[in-house]
Order: sequence, then structure tokens, then C-alpha cells
Amino acid sequence: MRRLALACVATIAVADYVIKRRDPPWLVVGLLDEPAHLATAILCNPTPGRAYLAGSLLPDLDHVPLAFGSPKPGDPRPKTHSLYAILPAALVSRDLAAGMLAHFARDLALDPGLPLLGGRHFRVPYGTYALLVLASAYSRSRPC
Ligand SMILES: [Zn+2]
Repeated sequence: MRRLALACVATIAVADYVIKRRDPPWLVVGLLDEPAHLATAILCNPTPGRAYLAGSLLPDLDHVPLAFGSPKPGDPRPKTHSLYAILPAALVSRDLAAGMLAHFARDLALDPGLPLLGGRHFRVPYGTYALLVLASAYSRSRPC
């Protein structure tokens, strides 16, 4: 479990370093961001099922239509990145909804934040997310 937790932290650290410092194109940000979402979800749930892991990636499906335009990193996230998307997902599967919440935990700390209530974007300091990641990794790496 310790190695998995470390691999998750490393995945997130590398993704966020490259995204923040190298200013890659939108598509590359997406390719780095999705593994970091999975890593975040795994750190938040030590025994993730398929529905949970799928939920941790599901919200970004709404980016696919954007790819046919000319998206840029930092563009506002679609309104489907809101709490209103959680309820229908919870009706399908509670694990799916929980995975989506793990996804939102990461997006909340990255520009431009999340339209949690469908309008204005909310954001928390990146340090809050980093603390969640490190505390979860520490918790996962301790012997039971
Ligand atoms: Zn997202």
C-alpha cells in the first residue's frame, strides 16, 4: 500500500509541476490531468471499485466536445462539473457519485475552479488539495 500511495503522490506531483511550470497545450494538460485524477481518487479510497474509478474520470467527458473547438488551459469548466451532476450519478451508483466527488476535489484546487452550483466558479488554494493528498498518502502508508 505504501508504494501505491507514493506512486499516486508522484503522479500528482509530476502532473501538477508540468502543468504549472511548462504551460503545455490543452490536450497535454488533459493527458497529465486524468492520471492525477485517478491517483487522487485512489488516495481518497483505499479499496476503489470500478464504478468509483469510473466516476473519478467521468466528469471530464464533458471536455470531449470542447476538443473540437480551440480550447485553452484555464478555460471555464462546463456546468456539468457541478454538484447537480452528482444526484443523477448517485441514482445509478453511490460509488460512481463518490468517484465524481474525488474528481471535484482535485478540480476545485486547479484553475479555473469548479462551477459547483452551475454558475460562478469556486476554488480552494492548491495547498489545501496538496494537504489532502499528503494526509491521505500518509494514512494509506501506515501499517494497520
Ligand atoms: Zn474535471
